[in-house]
Amino acid sequence: MTKRIVVLGAGESGVGAAVLAKKKGFDVFVSDLSAIKTNYKQLLLAHDISFEEGQHTEPLILSADEIIKSPGIPNNAPIIIQILDRGIPIISEIEFAGRYTNAKMICITGSNGKTTTTSLIYHILKKAGYKVGLAGNIGQSLALQVAESNHDYYVIELSSFQLDNMYEFHANVAVLMNITPDHLDRYEHTMQNYVDAKFRIIRNQTQQDAFVFWNDDPIIRRELEKYAEHGRLYPFAERKTDGTVSYVEQHQIHFTEPIPFNMEQEDLALTGTHNLYNSMAAGISAKIAGVRNECIREALSDFKGVEHRLEKVCEVDGVEYINDSKATNVNSCWYALQSMKKKTILILGGKDKGNDYAEIADLVREKCVGLVYMGLHNEKLHSFFDSFGLPVADVQSMHDAVDAARRMSRVGDVVLLSPCCASFDLFQSYEDRGEQFKACVNAMI
Ligand code: ADP
Repeated sequence: MTKRIVVLGAGESGVGAAVLAKKKGFDVFVSDLSAIKTNYKQLLLAHDISFEEGQHTEPLILSADEIIKSPGIPNNAPIIIQILDRGIPIISEIEFAGRYTNAKMICITGSNGKTTTTSLIYHILKKAGYKVGLAGNIGQSLALQVAESNHDYYVIELSSFQLDNMYEFHANVAVLMNITPDHLDRYEHTMQNYVDAKFRIIRNQTQQDAFVFWNDDPIIRRELEKYAEHGRLYPFAERKTDGTVSYVEQHQIHFTEPIPFNMEQEDLALTGTHNLYNSMAAGISAKIAGVRNECIREALSDFKGVEHRLEKVCEVDGVEYINDSKATNVNSCWYALQSMKKKTILILGGKDKGNDYAEIADLVREKCVGLVYMGLHNEKLHSFFDSFGLPVADVQSMHDAVDAARRMSRVGDVVLLSPCCASFDLFQSYEDRGEQFKACVNAMI
């Protein structure tokens, strides 16, 4: 009898998985508790895949031989509890797609820096002329690409939620950027559960594979001792220590393995310490994939960056405007401020997630010449920062924020949107916030 596959969640990954499953001859059914976007509905109809939206019909779901779950659905959702009770296997879209390709997999995870590092690796491989696909949390789903294209390499950004339901999948190159507390509400508020999920990235690795990681992360170093099996180790750090294969010495980045490589740090397109780590991780991964040194140097120096991450918008009246809307927590803003070389007017605020601004206090004192509080509730910002004695403004829209920042600025300053907060009080998403910032800035030209 034909095996029945049920896909839960009809977003990018779910619809891609459904298309691949259909192509492989399974009996496929897609179910989404919310409305399905029109473009995804069209794709399902075009492939003659049956689906439902706005509900989960239990008999249609619990008759599955295997379930492919969208990473957005938590394990305590009622339908998932029923599926687990019946012992029906649940896998992720990446796990499923991995069964149908022999392409080499370069997989990136971590609490911060995933999208940037993934995009950089993709950029280098593309520039080197490789047949490469970009997948995971970015762009098209892996499953859809496996169904429709023929790549030799995939560069895949993996969240902990995607890693949760991966079992047989095997990363040829696994990259772990860092581990700091995040999403603990999905991990029974236990940090170790989240750490274990991140470490699934090295599952099934052999000595022929590679494990690239930030050597200064205390959690990664501690946890690694628990794992006997993993790929060959490629630890990177800012300073050279025992075993580190990538580090900075005399303003040059060095890799000692797999083949010696060096380049001037100032030639890197992306600035800031965090981006140094992202560039190192990307460079080593490309080196492991066999890309020539010259090509890596070129690609690391001409990378245009990723939208909403320290993205240079333009200069207006001698003032530079930078969009770092993706900085939705205090730690990201710390890295952004740390990389600023000019006097800075910082636009911050939004939906506070229990922020402790003490982390950026010293940098604000050192670098900022003005603060614009942008949110429905700016009281916490007032009580923390007003005593610093900087000019401050209180606004409730992006238009007013940019206007206030412009008035505070002088020739040679920079205006940085790096909010430390989620965007949902005034905007639909961090992308919407970043788009509005760019539109307001560009309107001043
Ligand atoms: P992710 O995909 O993991 O959310 P991004 O590459 O989108 O990471 O970067 C999000 C934010 O995190 C950036 O705006 C930047 O301020 C910060 N960031 C980027 N890389 C790192 C890193 N290696 N370490 C710490 N913070 C980082």
